[in-house]
Order: sequence, then structure tokens, then C-alpha cells
Amino acid sequence: MTSQNTHTNGKTIAIIGGGPSGLAAAEILSAHGHDVTVYEAMPTVARKFLLAGKSGLNITHSEPYERFRIRYGSSGVRLIPALDAFTPADICEWTEQLDIEVFTGSSGRVFPKRMKASPLLRNWVARLEAQGIKILKRHRWKGFSGDTLLFDTPEGEKQISPDATLLALGGASYPRLGSDAAWVPWLKEKNISIAPFQSANCGFDVDWSSVFRERFAGAPIKSVAVTSPAGRIEGEFVISQHGIEGSLIYAHAAALRDQLNNTGTASLYLDLTPARSVERLIRDLTKQGSKSSFSNRLRKATGLEGVKAALLRELVPDAHMLSAENLAQQIKNLAVPLLRPRPIAEAISSAGGIVWDEVSDNYMLHKLSGVFVAGEMLDWEAPTGGYLLTACFATGRAAAQGMLDWLEHFTVKLD
Ligand SMILES: Cc1cc2nc3c(=O)[nH]c(=O)nc-3n(C[C@H](O)[C@H](O)[C@H](O)COP(=O)(O)OP(=O)(O)OC[C@H]3O[C@@H](n4cnc5c(N)ncnc54)[C@H](O)[C@@H]3O)c2cc1C
Repeated sequence: MTSQNTHTNGKTIAIIGGGPSGLAAAEILSAHGHDVTVYEAMPTVARKFLLAGKSGLNITHSEPYERFRIRYGSSGVRLIPALDAFTPADICEWTEQLDIEVFTGSSGRVFPKRMKASPLLRNWVARLEAQGIKILKRHRWKGFSGDTLLFDTPEGEKQISPDATLLALGGASYPRLGSDAAWVPWLKEKNISIAPFQSANCGFDVDWSSVFRERFAGAPIKSVAVTSPAGRIEGEFVISQHGIEGSLIYAHAAALRDQLNNTGTASLYLDLTPARSVERLIRDLTKQGSKSSFSNRLRKATGLEGVKAALLRELVPDAHMLSAENLAQQIKNLAVPLLRPRPIAEAISSAGGIVWDEVSDNYMLHKLSGVFVAGEMLDWEAPTGGYLLTACFATGRAAAQGMLDWLEHFTVKLD
């Protein structure tokens, strides 16, 4: 964890965006004696963090750190110094310092014991305010006028010229919670490259028949394995009105989205009976008498019934006519053709954002001296499992550390 000494050099710092990355940065900067104000567009801070609490708030992951740090794909090389400085173990310690006990689930994911975000956020904000950080809500940043920051506020337009600024504006998913990516054109005007935002950790549209959709939307498909370019992963997912959703799908989403982008088509492959080998399926299907109905033969020989059997028939309409060998192959490797990812407004997170080439190792924009960036607005993505929040906390703190170093250097030059 970054050490927090307190030399008072009293610079004014604007943190724009009161999500986990902005608040994490505020904590460090204020602990070093700076005058920190968080400007938040919404009436309350960290709305996405609070929504994450609805599914338990998976704050980090307990897998061995060597494995953890490779979950960020090609961005890992830039993120690793920040993650090394605020590891999953540090996050657990930090959370417990806020009087929130954590536990590790059977999957290795780490949650607050109460499976909620609100007590953690409440304690955190109280501690930040006690530390002297000002949080100005309903203050919407609306771009630059020269080097000055412009805000819409309940009192009208405000212009602010802090000594240093952190942009922690989030990505582009769930824009109704505040991170609406409205900042993209303002940074583009400053010649900053921004990779287009795309859905990450999202579901996909599938061209279900109306009969299947009406009957099975909302039904879980349990105990299956899904194979995609991301590999083979066992778990469960849900049939939705539009296609497929759920954590097992999110784990494959980046690979499938990229395949759709690159080739125009993509399918994932389902093993409907991971516990039964293809040989066993062939043997048991062959044993079934031809007089029984297809549904009965399928259930007795393979255990498939309900939504799983319906899914097989939806995707292989002539399944009842197949030989035992071909049917077994379909059951073990059922192609689900995907149309497109679900819209970014529904995605858990976004890929894309400010490209790393624009950002120095201390998280300052090369083209905007004194302006730092952190969190999901940077061009990285990660699976669900606590990796997103971990990187948001870690980059917030790393950007704060970078700002401290820069301010010290800057002060020396001015003195
Ligand atoms: C449904 C859901 C569940 C999730 N569950 C988990 C989970 O369990 N574990 C996990 O690791 N991750 C989870 N995530 C992802 C995680 O919440 C995000 O990655 C994280 O909140 C991003 O943090 P951030 O600080 O970068 O941005 P954000 O949390 O998006 O915060 C950005 C802030 O900036 C403010 N802002 C934006 N524009 C302006 C402006 N112009 N002026 C002023 N303020 C502005 C926004 O209002 C917002 O408060 C979940 C996400 C969703 C949608």
C-alpha cells in the first residue's frame, strides 16, 4: 500500500468524478496535505459502485496474485505497477479499516460480508470528509476554456483553475448512473486519442424463434461448459428476451466481441453435458428403443430435458433425425450463433477509452500538463470477478501518487 506521510504543501486539486477511482485518489492526495475537491455531476457519488453492491459488491479476487495480474490482457503491462502498489490483499485490508468485514466466496471472489456497497461507501465518504475533502455534487464538468475547467452547477456556471486535475469520469456503460462519456469530444479537441467505447462483460443477441423466446426467456441454463476463443469455462447462463446473459457469457464476451468485429460472425460452443463423455452419450443413445418419443430418448440417455432440451431443438431443428453419433456431437459442441453484443448501456463495463500512449507512467496526459486520468475511462478491460474495481482503486491511487510527484517537481521549479 502507498505510504501516507503528511507534508503540507497545500495545492488545490480538482478531482472530477466521484466514482471509486476518483475517491481513491482523493484519499491519498488529501492525506498529503493538499486541498482536494471532488466534483461530481450526479446528486450523489459512486452510483455505479452502489449498483455493483446489488450483486454483492465483488471488490477483488483472492487467486494467487501472479495469476490475478495477468487478467488485464494487453493493458496489464501498464496497469501492473499500479496493481503492485495496491494489491487485492491491500484492498481487503483497506476495506476492513473502514469497519467492513470481507469474505472470500467459493469462486475466490471477495465480497463485503454484508454483500452491500452502501455501508462501505458511507464509511468511506465519512472518512474522506473528516479528512477535509470537499465533495461538490451536481457539479458537471463541461469541458475546458483554455486551461480553465468549466462546470454547470446549481448556482450557474463555475470556472476553476486548480493546480492539478484528475479526470476520473468512468467508462461508457450504464450512462444513467453518471458515466456518460460526454467528455470524449472535449479531450479529442485536445488531440487526445480515444479508442471507441464498446460493450465489455455483456450479453449477446441471438436470433431466437418467438416460441423459444416466449417460453424460455429468463430460464437459467445450468451446469454447462462454454467454449470460445477465450477457452473452455464451466458455469451457467440465462436465456434472455434478446439472447444470452450471465457471468459465464461475460467471461467470453471480449473474445466473442472481437471475433464479431474482426470477421462479422461468431458462435460460442456449448457442452450441454460436461459430466458425460461423447462415448457415453453415443452408447446410451444407441440403447434407446425407436418406439419412445425423442424427448424420452433424450432424457433417458443424456439427462437433457426442459430448457436444455429445448435449446438443442431450437438450434438443431432436425435433432430428432440424427444418428446417435451426430446427436452426441451436437450435445457436446452445440454452436450458438451470435448476432451482436448487447448495447453498451446494459454492459457491466466498457472497453475503449483514452489510449495508453497518451498517458505517462505517472498517469498524466502528455498533451495536458497537470491533468491526470484514472479508472475505467482509460483503455483497458477485465473480466468480472473484482478485477474492475481493483484496477479502478489502483489507478486512482497511482494517479494520485503521480500527481504528488509531479506537484513536488513543479513546486521546485516555481520556487
Ligand atoms: C451493474 C454493475 C455491476 C458491477 N459490479 C462490479 C463488481 O461486482 N465488481 C467490480 O469489480 N466491478 C463491478 N462493476 C464495474 C465497476 O462498478 C466500475 O468498473 C467502476 O465503478 C468504475 O469506476 P470509475 O471510478 O472509473 O468510474 P465510475 O464508477 O463510472 O465513476 C465515474 C464518476 O464520474 C462522474 N462523472 C462522469 N462525467 C462527469 C462530468 N462531466 N462531470 C462530473 N462528474 C462526472 C459520474 O457521475 C460517476 O460518478 C459493475 C458495474 C455495473 C454497471
